[in-house]
Parts: sequence; structure tokens; C-alpha cells
Amino acid sequence: MLSSDEVRNNQLLIGGIPATELADEYGTPLQVYDVAKIRHQIRAFERVFVEQHVDYAVSYASKAFACVAMYQIVNQEHAHIDVVSAGELATALAADFPMERVSFHGNNKSYEELQMAVHHHVGTIILDNFYEIGLLAQVLEAADAEVNVMLRVSPAVSAHTHEFIQTGQQDSKFGFDLLTGQADQALQQVLAEPRMHLQGVHSHIGSQIFATDGFKIETQKLVHLMQHWRDEYDYIPQVVNVGGGFGIQYTDADHPIRPEEFVEQIITTLKTETAAADLPLPAVWIEPGRSIAGPAGVSLYRVGSQKTIPEVRKYVAVDGGMGDNIRPALYGAAYEAVAADNVAPTETEVVTVAGKYCESGDILVKDAKLPPVQAGDVIAVLATGAYGYSMASNYNRNPRPAVVFVENGSAQVVVKRETLADLTRLDVKLSD
Ligand SMILES: *Cc1c(COP(=O)(O)O)cnc(C)c1O
Repeated sequence: MLSSDEVRNNQLLIGGIPATELADEYGTPLQVYDVAKIRHQIRAFERVFVEQHVDYAVSYASKAFACVAMYQIVNQEHAHIDVVSAGELATALAADFPMERVSFHGNNKSYEELQMAVHHHVGTIILDNFYEIGLLAQVLEAADAEVNVMLRVSPAVSAHTHEFIQTGQQDSKFGFDLLTGQADQALQQVLAEPRMHLQGVHSHIGSQIFATDGFKIETQKLVHLMQHWRDEYDYIPQVVNVGGGFGIQYTDADHPIRPEEFVEQIITTLKTETAAADLPLPAVWIEPGRSIAGPAGVSLYRVGSQKTIPEVRKYVAVDGGMGDNIRPALYGAAYEAVAADNVAPTETEVVTVAGKYCESGDILVKDAKLPPVQAGDVIAVLATGAYGYSMASNYNRNPRPAVVFVENGSAQVVVKRETLADLTRLDVKLSD
């Protein structure tokens, strides 16, 4: 999984700096991002649209990993962002992210969140349900404002991935249902709202998807919907937003698909289907989250205790775990781990890398192939950049790790390590 420029003298390098140096300098557990990889992924998606002369937006689904510096990088790349809460929006504002390139998502946006989005002139609000159409109408009336919107539909496509992270099947909490005519009803309501400018249609079929045919079926369904809306309601979407979900390689068992392949599949299908239906080619928006942040991230931990149960298993415990990466406990997610100062060991053993949290399920990597390690050694878990830190918690009252960005051989803290004082900052002592 590591490329040749990530290994020197059998040591793991991140953005040109030895991982052990980063651990010494910034402490562990530590979340490190190789910024060049983030930029590379965004550009790989964009290149296909440019080459194929398709109007597009690459909107980073920032729930995968958000902080001020991350939004700054995405802005430097002129990409868009998706936000799903007032907190992500506030973080984007703190990063001076241009609000016209923000899409606001979510199945239960509050009145206050919609008000904040309208006040800051967010580019697009992705409408998810009937309640929200009414709520947004009130907000716009009160603010005497207008806003661009898209309708999220639930296209009943089930992409081949883990069932907990599927969102496109008909039984979904997200979006207007296609099969029961809810999407048509929503269209009529929004077209009747003079303060809402409908840009187009959105759908998102799941996450960590490897088969490109999920996107083909989704795109076909969306073009059929365009055709239906043109014929029945005289409305043609200018934007077709196909969401995110592009799969990445976590271990050797995952067969990576280049970002380009997903986009090529979507564009080819869209061109064929719209031509057949005599529809204009819409702009295509995509929303990659995991595929932008995931491969760029590495988690560094130090080894502490070890426990060998003869004939059963050897546990190697590290100083982090489910508090900084809950995915293995939550989804049974698999990762690859390496010893930072011995990435291609001659002697290996199969061990389970466990965290320090008080849950038996707090395992980071089951059956990792590692050299024999000792207390103090640095273990790196690879491709942890998405849905790790962003889902971090203070379970067991452990402080969340620091986040460091590395680029061109220089490192910078972009999120400070939480302190013990931070942990009691919101606590209030009982009054006597
Ligand atoms: C989560 C999400 C994404 C990003 O999914 P990834 O699997 O991280 O690419 C994109 N769009 C929507 C609407 C989402 O909810």
C-alpha cells in the first residue's frame, strides 16, 4: 500500500518527514495528513471533467474530515464543500471559505441552521424533505431573501458496500422517494416558491463503493427523472449532483479504482442517456469525501502493554483507539498497520492492535502483520484520514489527538491536542 517515496531506509515517511520524528515532535496519538495527496485527489477528479468538456463542481464532503486548515486547502484548489451542520458551516466561515461554493446538506436541518445558511449566502441548500421546504420558506420570508436549492431524491439504488453506510436504497431516511411520487410533489412545491431557485437534482447512493455500475444505474435513473420532469412539469435540471461514495484502498483486500474511472463512468452514462432523451447535458456535481481525505491520513500511536494468550492471540496495545478512530468498532472496518521504523520487516508476527479504551471491541487492527515491537515503538495505521478524527470522542475522558499537516517536507499543527483542562472546560461544579 505504500509507494516508494513513502519509505526510506525501511522507515515510513509522511510528506517527506519520518513518521517517528513527527511522533517525537508532536506526541501520540497523532493524526497526520500528507497534503499533497489531498490536492492530488481533488485534481484527479477535476481533470476528467475538464478533459471531457463537462461543466462540473467537485464538492468535498467535509464530514470526512473538517478543520479550518482543511477548508483552506480545498479553497486553494478552487473546489466546493458540502457541510451538514452549523458547526461545519462555522468552521468554513472561520477559514474564509467562499460561501457561494458551499452546499448545505442534512435530513434535519434546524430553523437556526437554515437561517445561518441564508444569512451567509450559502451557494446551495440541498432540500431533503417536505418539512424542510416549509421551514426554508419561512426563513426566506423572514429574511426577505432568496437561495439556490437542489432536491435530494432517494433513487433506490443499492450499491455494493457495507449496509450501515448505504443511503440510496428506498428505505432510507434521506431524500424524496422516487417510486412513490414524493420527488414530483417536492418539485411542484419548490417551483411554486419564488424565493427558491431550483438548480437541479441530487442523490447519493452510499459509501466506500467499488463497483462503478452503481453510479451508472444512479445516473440513468436521474436522467429518466430529468426526462419525466421535462415532459410533465416543463422543468429541466441544470445540475445533476450524483453525490460521493467513491471507494478507497484500506488494505490489500481492497482493489482500488482510480477516481477518474468513477467520473468517466458517470460522464459516459450521462452523455449517452441525455442524448437519447434529447436533453441538454447538465453540469455534473460530485461530492467525494472519503476519497479525498482518507488516503492522505495516517494515525501514529505508541506501543504500551502487550498480552500474549498462548495458542489464541497476542494483543499489542497502543495509546489511542476507538476515541480517535471508531470505524473498526462501529463497522468492523479493516486497516493496515506498519511499524514506523521497520515497514518491511524480515521477521513478522500476527498480532491484534488494540486501543486503550474500556471496551473489548476497542480494536484498531485485527490480525496485523507486524515485526516484534516494544513499548515506545511507533505504529502507523494507514489511510485513516476519513471518518476517523471527524468522529473522534472523549470517551473515557481521553483528550482528542493533535492533527498535523505535512507538505514539501515541512509540518504544521492544524488542530491542537486537547488538554486535560479542555476536558473539564464545560463542566460545572455543583453549587453547595
Ligand atoms: C457522506 C456523503 C458524501 C461523501 O461520501 P464519501 O463516501 O465520503 O465519498 C457525499 N454526499 C453526501 C450527501 C453524503 O452524505
